[in-house]
Amino acid sequence: MRIAILADIHANLTAFTAVLRDCVERGGVDEYWFLGDMVNYGPEPEKCIKLAQRLKHIAVAGNHDLAAIGELPTRLFNPDAVLALEWTKRQLSQQSIRTLAGLKQQEVRGDFLLVHGSPRDPVNEYLISKALAEENFRVFKNRYAFVAHSHEPLIFRMEKEGRVSFVRFTEGIGQVIGDARLIINPGSVGQPRDGDPRASYAILDSEASMIRLYRVSYDIGAVQRKMVKANLPMRLVARLEKGL
Ligand code: ZN
Repeated sequence: MRIAILADIHANLTAFTAVLRDCVERGGVDEYWFLGDMVNYGPEPEKCIKLAQRLKHIAVAGNHDLAAIGELPTRLFNPDAVLALEWTKRQLSQQSIRTLAGLKQQEVRGDFLLVHGSPRDPVNEYLISKALAEENFRVFKNRYAFVAHSHEPLIFRMEKEGRVSFVRFTEGIGQVIGDARLIINPGSVGQPRDGDPRASYAILDSEASMIRLYRVSYDIGAVQRKMVKANLPMRLVARLEKGL
């Protein structure tokens, strides 16, 4: 089975559709796993939710998804994010609000745990260091976990003796899904922050026991124009082309 792992789409429909096209060009996938933050920041939250619903998928809730439906206080967000959240709330249909409200904070498929933040704090923790990974490996039982939230593609690996190492997850890396426990972040589709503005996602091939990262170019200018038209904060518009 081939599974596309998509995280932090952030209402960027242009990046989302470019990634779906890329999946098809690579021979297709059987299922999509969404790691949260489908909405906020970008200009097309409603269409992103609708499109995701049409795909065979599982999904977990991100902090922005919960804030967009009033289930997380906006004081936890920076001023630009709050402005964008207020705008996002006005775009969502009742049906999409119900869809977001129905998301769980974690899902399990086989040996994989899916969360947005981290295994111990599925909504809010940024899992971005070996020390944090070590602590998190202790609190979940599954062999592997997928996380998102930091928008940085990373792989944490626990060796047999318990030591944790990490690598930046780049296009060149084919990570074997084997004995070692792993925490994997596939990066962000709609707002990458690792200095590469291209959309980031991964394909897990369960028969080959391998996961690979892909980066996909998309029309960033078109998204920025839609954001300007919607009066979304300029800092959010500008950061897309820098991937920061
Ligand atoms: Zn996010």
